[in-house]
Amino acid sequence: MEQPAIDVAAALKTEELFFKPNGYRGLDAGASYTILSGSIPVLVSAPHAVKHIRKGNTEPKEEDEYTGTIARLLQESTGCWAMHAASVDLDPNFYDDCPYKHALRELVKKERIRLIIDIHGAAEWRAFNIDLGTCRGDSLLEHSEYLDDLITALRGEGIQSVFVDSVFTAGAQSTVTRFASRELGIPAVQLEINRRLRDPERNPVYFGVLMQGLHSFIRDLG
Ligand SMILES: [Zn+2]
Repeated sequence: MEQPAIDVAAALKTEELFFKPNGYRGLDAGASYTILSGSIPVLVSAPHAVKHIRKGNTEPKEEDEYTGTIARLLQESTGCWAMHAASVDLDPNFYDDCPYKHALRELVKKERIRLIIDIHGAAEWRAFNIDLGTCRGDSLLEHSEYLDDLITALRGEGIQSVFVDSVFTAGAQSTVTRFASRELGIPAVQLEINRRLRDPERNPVYFGVLMQGLHSFIRDLG
C-alpha cells in the first residue's frame, strides 16, 4: 500500500488542541460548536467530536475520537466547509432542538451547500470499516450518485467492508443526516467510521487512506 501524504503530527496536534481538553469536553469559549468556512459547497460535520448530553443521563456520552480532527483537516485540504462540536451540549445526533442544528439551519440559509457529510465513530469490534447511513436511501434526495462516488473513492484507496445502511441507517433517531435531508432539503450521508481507521497514532496508514479517500471524493465535488 502506498503511503499517503497525510500529516500525522498535524492530526495528533489538532485533536490535542481542540477536542481532548478537559477529558474530551472541549474548550468552553462561547458557542458549543465551531464552523469553518469553505469555498466548495460541501459541509463535513462532526457533531460528536466531544462528549455530549442526553437528557436524563447523569454523565455525558463518549466522544467519537478524531471525527472533529477529520472535519478540520478536510476543510484545510479540500476547501470544504466544516462544522464540529466544540464543547459539551445536547446531542445533535439525537435532538432536533439543539444549538448545533439551529446553527446548521442558519448556515445553509446563507451559504450554498450541496451535500452534508456527517461523520461519526464506531467501535473497533464492528464488522464494517465504514457504514454509510442514508435513511435507506431517503437522505440522498434522489442524488444516489453521491453515494456511488463516495464508495468508489473509498474502495479506490483499498478500503474494504464499506457497508450501506447496515447497522447505522441514520434513520432511527433525530440524526443530523435525517434533519439535513428532511428539514433542510439538503442531501446528506452519515459515515460511521471504525476506530481502526481513526487512530493516527497507532494506525497512521489506515488513517491516511481514509483521509485520502474522503479528500478525493470531496475535491471532485468542488
Ligand atoms: Zn457519533
